Amino acid sequence: MDFLASVLLDPDNSGEESSYPVYETFNPHSSSAELQSNFFMGNESIPVPGQASDETKENVTDEKPKPKPDEAASHLISNGGETAALQEPKLRLRSAFKSDENAAADKPSRSLITKLHIVNRSRASFSGKVKALMNSAKAEKDWLVSIRRQIHEYPELRFEEHNTSALIRRELDKLNISYMSPFAQTGVVAQVGSGSTPVVALRADMDALPLQELVDWEHKSKVDGRMHGCGHDAHTTMLLGAAKLLKKREDHLKGTVRLLFQPAEEVGSGASYMIKDGALGNAEAIFAMHVDFERPTGTIASIAGPALAAVCFFEAKIEGQGGHAAIPHEVKDPVIAASFAILALQQLISREVDPLHSQVLSVTYIRGGTAMNAIPHIVEFGGTLRSLTTDGLYQLQKRVREVIEGQATVHRCKGFVDMKEEEHPSIPAVINDEVLHEHVQRVGKLLLGSNNVKPGNKVMAGDDFGSYQEVIPGVMLSIGIRNETLGAVHSPHSPYFFLDENVLPIGAAISTALAEIYLEEHQSL
Ligand SMILES: [Zn+2]
Ligand SMILES: [Zn+2]
Repeated sequence: MDFLASVLLDPDNSGEESSYPVYETFNPHSSSAELQSNFFMGNESIPVPGQASDETKENVTDEKPKPKPDEAASHLISNGGETAALQEPKLRLRSAFKSDENAAADKPSRSLITKLHIVNRSRASFSGKVKALMNSAKAEKDWLVSIRRQIHEYPELRFEEHNTSALIRRELDKLNISYMSPFAQTGVVAQVGSGSTPVVALRADMDALPLQELVDWEHKSKVDGRMHGCGHDAHTTMLLGAAKLLKKREDHLKGTVRLLFQPAEEVGSGASYMIKDGALGNAEAIFAMHVDFERPTGTIASIAGPALAAVCFFEAKIEGQGGHAAIPHEVKDPVIAASFAILALQQLISREVDPLHSQVLSVTYIRGGTAMNAIPHIVEFGGTLRSLTTDGLYQLQKRVREVIEGQATVHRCKGFVDMKEEEHPSIPAVINDEVLHEHVQRVGKLLLGSNNVKPGNKVMAGDDFGSYQEVIPGVMLSIGIRNETLGAVHSPHSPYFFLDENVLPIGAAISTALAEIYLEEHQSL
């Protein structure tokens, strides 16, 4: 209880009573009426928009407009008929003491007031618990660093993470943590906790990049042309760290944590295969983190709503009729057709997209012809499309086809467009759940202090974490690794990318707290 109550009352761990409203702990997908019944009756059925089952889809269709948090709170207040001074603490207590039916009473009861005093007293002890969690994580630093360096030295590309997967399973065996595998060929799903609901998921990606590491250090990649240049070795390590910490605290967990070790995030859409193989189980929320070279170690950031773009790749081929450059009237020139097509594509973002809706269309290569006096038969080009909404990406894909095929026709050529779905499946946008984002902010402040928890930025990079969010609400947060002294200042996918390993215990502790406090706040009655 004290974990939860303290979070609600003192997210900054400052000793001040929190201004965070208690409705953050309510099911965000419930109507006002459902809010009360879920709250007092322990309704386990949580309608989640986008969830795959037909039953859920019906729920979503029939769902009343979601109440804004203020409306939900005022609904409860208006039913309470109390003085303003008493209403707020009472609301907080309702979350802290979900099983207490007195919380539904019209008038504040003596037991409520007594409990408020108990909650207030628990604040003092909570500070110690947070410190204990972080100290416990820091005590594992050597183990975490050794795991991360093993993974870093032997990077494996998408769907080939066999040794990484074996390492994870070996460590889980040592920790006496049960798991299932394979998921999506090399993925592992471990479970810690009571085995019952609620279930919350944590996800890490395991794959490396086809990149030559150019950082000269003792534990650099031992495989030519492969590098953990995106920090997925750290993600995997931090999740193993969370597994260890959660196992130690298993008796206190008020539900179950599923730990998803996922292959093929880099242009592989491993998340979609994990989902198809049932990796989510009955998880109702999911968290993941990505290292961030722009933020100093010891800080995190998250943002509600669109955070990362929906992404796809395309290849285009313009087929004409080649010939001598001196007799252009006897050829069908694909160079001219491709040139017009590439220029016409630029109008899609500037003329057809709402300026407030971010999209990117980049043509990244063009090739065709080998001689200065011959017009080629074929010209090829390609690139990437990005949108902060998944629907926006689909619309852009449609128009890219139309423009390229149309421009080819105008110039008496044929145009072909391949969205490369087989090789590089498109990924949906990462859209962070607003309530879970608040959870991340509160938990982050408890562990790291208010100054080290920042609002995140939207970026047009992608991550297949968005696939999970199409099924259940989730948040992907950024965790800082910038350390000028160590040279941890390079962007992901750079051959000079370097990790500040001090992040490892921090990430393990945050993952642990995100899951543990989530379970505390969403206990089934
Ligand atoms: Zn990457
Ligand atoms: Zn990455």
